[in-house]
Formats: sequence, structure tokens, C-alpha cells
Amino acid sequence: MNPDPAPVRDTGGAPAGRVSASGAPSAGVSDAGRTLAWKERPVPSVDFNRAPYTVIWEVTRACDLCCIHCRASAQKARDSGELTLAEGYRLLDSIAEFGSPVFVITGGDPMKRADLEDIIGYAARDKGLRTSLTPSATPLVTRDRLASIKAAGIARIALSLDGPRAAVHDAFRGERGCFDRTIEIIRHMQDLEIPLQINTTVAKPNVADLVEIARRVEGFGAVQWSVFFLVPMGRGKREDMISAAQHERIFHWLCDLKHKVSFDIKVTAAQHFRRVAIQRERRAGRAMRTDERGCYLEVSGAGFQYTDGIQRPTQGVNDGKGLVFISHVGDVYPSGFLPIRAGNVRGQSVVDIYRNSFIFHELRDPNKLRGKCGVCEYRVVCGGNRARAWAMTGDALAEEPMCVYVPPLQRAGAPSIPDGELIS
Ligand code: SF4
Ligand code: SF4
Repeated sequence: MNPDPAPVRDTGGAPAGRVSASGAPSAGVSDAGRTLAWKERPVPSVDFNRAPYTVIWEVTRACDLCCIHCRASAQKARDSGELTLAEGYRLLDSIAEFGSPVFVITGGDPMKRADLEDIIGYAARDKGLRTSLTPSATPLVTRDRLASIKAAGIARIALSLDGPRAAVHDAFRGERGCFDRTIEIIRHMQDLEIPLQINTTVAKPNVADLVEIARRVEGFGAVQWSVFFLVPMGRGKREDMISAAQHERIFHWLCDLKHKVSFDIKVTAAQHFRRVAIQRERRAGRAMRTDERGCYLEVSGAGFQYTDGIQRPTQGVNDGKGLVFISHVGDVYPSGFLPIRAGNVRGQSVVDIYRNSFIFHELRDPNKLRGKCGVCEYRVVCGGNRARAWAMTGDALAEEPMCVYVPPLQRAGAPSIPDGELIS
């Protein structure tokens, strides 16, 4: 990429037609006659040992696309072992016991399930969960289906955009026409006033296009750009990952960019972005706001609410620490990218698994981290991406392979760091 921190207000990359050039997010979710209680709630202050900030349910692994980096190695046909709607309702009852986590319905392609609106309605209206959806850009996403999903109570829909042009995006997604369909879906969402999130996976094939993708995100009027850094699992290949130095350069570019754009920027599978953000603030001599626990609000992005009511966590989320993933057959994992099975919701509550399983306990304890992450003063707020560590070393507690930082205590050869000096 060219990490040029130039502003992206110019919408030269925006598609023609009714796509917004203002960059202003559109109006919030219509309540369709019933109150969506989560819209009134403040930012939840969550003890990650008791409850996650985000719960992700992969309602199916079926998908008609064939992306080169697909975590799920998705196939076209649905699995007969998927959780049924009745089992899904019981799962949602359990998820609501956590309090009010952000609830993400993902796949595969969730649009493959005919009962999707029942799931959304039960989650958003009956259980009061802030519910978002990640459909695949296929002909299944019609205007009518989007309207039906909105009426069911969805708060936000996230679409993938891995290239600013059809050639790049379609090559990523494994299907010609996927880019044009994505633009068409965005237009439908604008008509229907459904808040839009854009997800981009950063890898070698598109790293040079990030500036242009950011312009597109601005032009769409998206509320959030979720920038995901490739984890080599599923169909994602190690050789497609960018280097540790490129990660670092992109983090700095994103730190500059966030002051120049209308959308929020969220980084996924790159916890060391928080270390970069803190280092920059310290070098600039700026004091960062903290919450009552001393956690850096600016780094984790809390303290405000978007038009669609979905807020940002006040602490650093990591796999199994503020995050839990339930697979299409009910298996529970620390994240969708860390395939260490901790239990199954058919025989156990997801609450019990999250709070008490061995692997979740291990992942939540920064003192268990190994290598340079284990002696790093940023290990509480960062801790490195656990899924990438697992994918590249076979050890979920190993050091983050894509971080350039060398902690002072590693340089000094010291074995440990006192808790009081940790940055949280
Ligand atoms: S759209 Fe998502 S689920 Fe479908 S193949 Fe691509 S990454 Fe996998
Ligand atoms: S060494 Fe590990 S804990 Fe420290 S900043 Fe890098 S990834 Fe984060």
C-alpha cells in the first residue's frame, strides 16, 4: 500500500448514482412499532471474566462465494447438523444472560437461512441485543429481503469490500460481478436507511489499494470501516499475509486517517494497533482519557454512540477475552479464527463455557502469554492476536508473530514485569 495519510473526503472513488458523497451516516434503525431497548443503554462496563463484549454466532457455514481467504472454508450446501431455530432461541436465551453484548450473526452466508428474520427478531426485540449481520454479496440479498431484515430489528449490516475496483474485489471473492452486486446492495441499504459497516481484509493482493478503499468507504457514508488483518487459517494462506513492518506502517496510517474521515475505524486481528496508538499519544505528549479502571478510552474507542446505537468496548478485546464465537453446529470457540473447541451449546450453556472453560481462562490471563508478549508492558491492553499466534506456531499463547515491537524487558533479558507497570 501507499500509506499516504491524505484525506479521503474527496469521493472520486465513490460509485455513481445515489451513493452519498457527504459521508454523513444515514438515519438510525426504524423500530417497526416495538422499542429496541439497547438503543437507550449506555456503553456497557463489562468484566470480561464474566461476560464478553461481542458474541458471534455462525448460523450456517454455507455460502455461494469462494473467497481466497475464507476462514470457514465455506461450501455451497448447508450442513444438516446446523443448530435449529429452536436451538438458536435457547442459545439466544443464554447469550442474554451475559447482559447486553453486541450480537453478530455471521456465516458462511446467513442469508442462506430462511429463518434468519426469526433469529434477528428474537435477538433484537425479545432479548434486546444489539444485533448486526454479515451477509455475503450474492443474489440472495434483494431489496425486499433487506427490508424484511430491517423490520425484524437489525441494527447494522456489514458488507465486505476487499478492493476499490471490480478486478481486485472479485479476484478476492472468487466470483465476477461480486463488486457490482456489493454496490447495488449498498444502494438498497441507503434507500432503506440501514446503517452500513464495510469490512476489508488486508493481504498482499490489496495492500496497495487501501487508500482508495478508504475513499470508497467515505463515499458510501458507512458508519464504520472494520480493517481486518489476515490470519492464515481456513483458505487464508500464510504467503498472502503482509509483513510485520507493513502492519506497523498501516497502523500509523490508520491513526492519522481516523482524524480525517467521517466513519469510525476498527481494527480486527491486530491488537498491537493499540500499542501503536498509545505510543503515538505519549510521543505527542498528550494525556489519554481513561475510564474508572484506568483503561484507555481512546484506544479502545468508547464513550460515544453511533446513529445505529452500536458502541465500542472500553477495554481491549481479544480472542476469548470479551469475545466468544459459536459455530454452525454449536461448538464454542474463543473466536472464529482460533479453532480450539471449548464446548458445545447442545450440552452446556455458552455462559458456563465462556466463564469456566480452561482455554478461555488461559487466554484472559496476560501472565500466561509467552515470548515477547509475556514480558511486554502492553500485554494487558494488547496481548497480540491469539489466533495468528496459534495459526503460525501451534501455540495460542505464543508471541504475536506480526509485531515489530521489542519490549524493553526482553531487550534486558528480564524474566517478568511487575503488574503495577502494565499498561491496561
Ligand atoms: S463470503 Fe464469507 S463465508 Fe462466503 S466464502 Fe467469502 S469469506 Fe467465506
Ligand atoms: S510484543 Fe506482544 S503484547 Fe507487546 S505490543 Fe507486540 S503484540 Fe502486543
